[in-house]
Amino acid sequence: MSLSEFELIQRYFAEASTDASVALGIGDDCAVLSVPTGQQLAVSIDSLVQGTHFLEGTPADLLASRLFGSALSDLAAMGATPAWLTLALTLPEPDEDWLQLFSSRLAQLCNEYHVSLVGGDTTKGPLTLSAQVHGFLPRDHRLTRAGAKVGDLICVSGCLGDSRGGLDGLLNGFENHTEAGYLLERFYAPTPRIELGKILLGKANSCIDISDGLLSDLSHILKASGGLGARLQLEAVPISSQLIATFGEESARQWALTGGEDFELCFTLPPNYLALLSQLPVPVAVIGKVTDRADIELFLRGEPCQIQGSGYDHFQRKDD
Ligand code: ADP
Ligand code: MG
Repeated sequence: MSLSEFELIQRYFAEASTDASVALGIGDDCAVLSVPTGQQLAVSIDSLVQGTHFLEGTPADLLASRLFGSALSDLAAMGATPAWLTLALTLPEPDEDWLQLFSSRLAQLCNEYHVSLVGGDTTKGPLTLSAQVHGFLPRDHRLTRAGAKVGDLICVSGCLGDSRGGLDGLLNGFENHTEAGYLLERFYAPTPRIELGKILLGKANSCIDISDGLLSDLSHILKASGGLGARLQLEAVPISSQLIATFGEESARQWALTGGEDFELCFTLPPNYLALLSQLPVPVAVIGKVTDRADIELFLRGEPCQIQGSGYDHFQRKDD
């Protein structure tokens, strides 16, 4: 590497943190960090591997936003407040344009979400990016997948399927380009629903972020909650007009149920919190109810239905 590892870290990642919780940041063998009194640490790591999660040549700023959004989304799903980030970079070469683009977008996002980059690792090899995020939770309070109760409202934030639409457009081209920018943005820059997660803490009985697809992720909640089931009204599943305009209603509905990586929150809420739903920082839709039948039943305008060759089967297979 023409740029030494030391120079690379100094130049692109070593900005000192001003956060009081960071006793010692980048530059020594470890960071030294203080968890505020009465809080616990929530920790999660996510990786993006070239060829598996993104195509060669993907602009570095888009990789930064995708990595950051997907990693912070796990904190949102627990109701945690983001605090620190560590970053493991495996790079084929120290490309300065790439590093500039990546590090400046990452710094921008860290600033926006009040996250301090406190350390990491830099190695040579096939392009792989890993972000470990750390957040705070009030002691013994957290949103988890377990805890859904029969009769809970099943809710989702934002719109589903857009990220899958963006990916399809990247791989196969967009049938109609008008909304391509919006769909690509949803794929490359998912919004971690931090504020929503914090509000739901102590109110929702269960929560997960949608990374594998609604049916698959909801099934994780139902399973973790002791083998419960769900009745879903498909017409209530929120789908953007942009996704429908670009790919038609059938694909849009399919992707809303089974497409992954929207990083919206799916949570179950006791019905007495119904009024809360109109006071949230993002639109939230009620799409069904938790039942005691260990099964997901789908209804479209009151009629039972199955989703062709996809989510529902996929859900069954995954759990078998
Ligand atoms: P060591 O060899 O002791 O593990 P390194 O030389 O790998 O230390 O790293 C030196 C310092 O730079 C450490 O504080 C480490 O956390 C930080 N660091 C290394 N790579 C990155 C990176 N990609 N982003 C942020 N900090 C990094
Ligand atoms: Mg060391």
